[in-house]
Formats: sequence, C-alpha cells, structure tokens
Amino acid sequence: IRDRDVAAPRPDTAEYPPVAPPLSWRSVHHPDPLEEPVAPTAQDQSVHNVVIVGSGPAGYTAAIYTARADLSPVLVAGAVTAGGELMNTTEVENFPGFPEGVQGPELMANLEAQARRFNTEVVYDDVVQADLTSNPKVLTLGDGTQLRTHAVILTTGSAYRKLGVPGEERLSGHGVSWCATCDGFFFREQEIAVVGGGDSAMEEALFLTKFASKVTVLVRKDELRASKVMAHRAMENEKIEFRWNTEVTEVTGDDKVNTLRLRDTRTGEASTLDVTGLFVAIGQDPRTDLVQGQVELTEHGTIRIDHPSSRTSQPGVFAAGDVTDHTYRQAITAAGSGCVAAQDVEHYLATVADVEEAAPAGPESDANPA
Ligand code: NDP
Repeated sequence: IRDRDVAAPRPDTAEYPPVAPPLSWRSVHHPDPLEEPVAPTAQDQSVHNVVIVGSGPAGYTAAIYTARADLSPVLVAGAVTAGGELMNTTEVENFPGFPEGVQGPELMANLEAQARRFNTEVVYDDVVQADLTSNPKVLTLGDGTQLRTHAVILTTGSAYRKLGVPGEERLSGHGVSWCATCDGFFFREQEIAVVGGGDSAMEEALFLTKFASKVTVLVRKDELRASKVMAHRAMENEKIEFRWNTEVTEVTGDDKVNTLRLRDTRTGEASTLDVTGLFVAIGQDPRTDLVQGQVELTEHGTIRIDHPSSRTSQPGVFAAGDVTDHTYRQAITAAGSGCVAAQDVEHYLATVADVEEAAPAGPESDANPA
C-alpha cells in the first residue's frame, strides 16, 4: 500500500481557509477531516487548484485522489449528463470489487459519494467555454460562472454514435447496447444482431459468439470497412451471418427488443429480423468540442496525451478516460487513468509552486536580495 492509500494523519492546524487556497497553501495546511469544513465554492473569485471536467469513472477517480491530496477539487459534472455512459448501463459485472455486479447508476452514485466525502465540490452544470491557454485557466459554466484554475483534468468521455431510428433510445438497456463486453453475457443462446462494418463491429460480433447462438451483422454497404484480418476472422466464424446492403429503420418490442425493421439500401425493399438484442457498433466520437484548437488531438480525434502520463500538449491541462482512449474504453481503465491524472496534477502543482516560490518577484522582493 502506497502512502496516499492510507488515511491522512491528523493535522496540526484545523482552520479551513474560507476560499480556495493558493498553491503554496498546500504545503503548510492540512484540514482536519473531523471538522465541518467551510469549503471553497465554485462561485468565488479565487483560483482553484484543479477543476475536473466530466463525471464518469475517470472524473470521479481523479476527484477522489486530488481531494485526498488536499487539492480541494471542483468537479463539473454536467447539467443533464452527469455520471457519463454508465448511467445508460444496467448491470455492470466486470468492475472489480462487486462480486454480485452493480447497476451502472449505483456505481456512479457511489463514486460521487466517495469524492464528496473528501470535500470535492460537485457542480451540476456544463462547461460551455474553456480558455486553457491563459494563466490561470478560465472555464465558463452554463450559468455564466467563471472558474479560474491552475490545472484542469479533462474527462469528457466519448459518445457512441447512434443510429437515430425509432425505438433505439427507448429500448436502450433493454436489448439495445453499445458495448458487447458489458452486455454480451446477457444474451446466452439468443439470436442477436450487430450493426456496422468496421473493426468495432467485427470485434463485437466475434465476442458475442461466445454467448449468442447466432449473430447477424447488418452492413449498409456491400463491403466492410474493417481490416482484412478482422473481416476474415468474422467471416470464418460459423455463428456469424452477414446481411449486406441493409440498414435498420426501426427497433421494436414492448419492454425489450424483439424485432428489427430493415431496409435494403439498393432496392428500398423492407424486411424484418427477429432478435432479442441489437449491438450498435458504428463508431464513437470523443467529446472534444470544448477544447478544439487548444490541445493536440490524435488521428482518431482523441486528446493526445504523453503516455504513460496524462499530460496534454497544453501545460497544466491533463486528460483521462475515454476522451483519450481509442482502444480499451472500459470503466476500470478510465478509473485507472483518472488516478494517473490526479497524481500528475499533484506533481504539476507542487512543481509550479516550487518555481513560484523560487522565482524573484521583482526588484524589491525578499526573494531577490541584491
Ligand atoms: P469505423 O468508422 O471504422 O466504422 C464504422 C462502421 O459503421 C462503418 O462500416 C460504417 O459504414 C458503419 N456505419 C456508420 N454509420 C452507420 C449507420 N448510421 N448505419 C449503419 N452503419 C453505419 O468505426 P469503428 O468503431 O469500427 O473503428 C474506429 C477505429 O478503431 C478504426 O480505425 C478501427 O480500425 C479501430 N478499431 C480497431 C480495433 C482492432 O484493431 N481490434 C477494434 C475496434 C476499432 P460505412 O463503411 O458505410 O461508412
């Protein structure tokens, strides 16, 4: 067990500052966890140590770690989408520590409670504008509040592309899924469908053959976009059947999926397919609108980080979770990267504070004895 994993020692002084502490405060002040703190509020005019944007597993893990490091983090959770993708998931069976599984929303509520326990300030609003190049950095919320901060952790996640057809949203979590790793287990010996012709669709289809009795892959063209090796593997699998030039026009079922309405993209001919599950694998879009032009992105549209750290191309700006991850995209990998970002911020703030303390403040400064 590392130092930061054990309970902090009781502090010598217990007076909590009324506003967010300056950088140098960190090294001398240790709040008493047993006292009722007067935490800094997001609305005040002080400069925060760190603001975390996004409230998925990466964001809350970053909050837990930065809060336990006495950095008084502010976490901007989103006005309507707080909790991230897991809020759309039902049972999560692969997050370690929950032998019986846990509901996605319950897991997020637990993560939030844990972050709050160490005095993370959670703000239910959206960041609508970000100036990450200024010093301090300025984040503007939907209600006009401006948060000034030394460091930012971006954990804005990614959004699965949706088909945008009737029934898809309503039956999400009731047969419609965007994650075979998360939900495939629930379709043992059932007939299901996957939409998409890229590597994700092939990977999802192959994974789903472990459970399903039959997987029909619906491809809107007469060719795949997937790499040859993935396409070959999927075509060789006897549980997988391809339907070419086929698009989904509606997902039907009362309280769970039972039939897909399909359309031939060349002839327009309508047909149906009876399945109990539909996995949509038509790509993802990392949520980077807010920071376009201010941090470097990869060719996949994710925020480029300096692996294995969480540093972005902009000093003081860190990123974690799906917004940086094109490959693994799991709740547990996001949580792990949030922990990395928190430690990177801690180190960054300590380094900046050291530099500020060491730097001459001007001709009359004590720090510059001539
Ligand atoms: P892609 O953008 O590569 O493929 C998306 C697929 O979905 C395409 O076949 C596209 O069809 C189809 N599609 C898009 N919109 C619709 C729609 N509305 N209805 C029906 N079909 C639609 O996304 P992926 O997520 O598959 O892959 C993204 C990147 O990740 C790629 O570079 C891929 O190689 C990589 N990847 C690699 C993996 C691996 O190597 N193991 C695993 C997963 C991803 P169309 O072709 O007609 O546009």
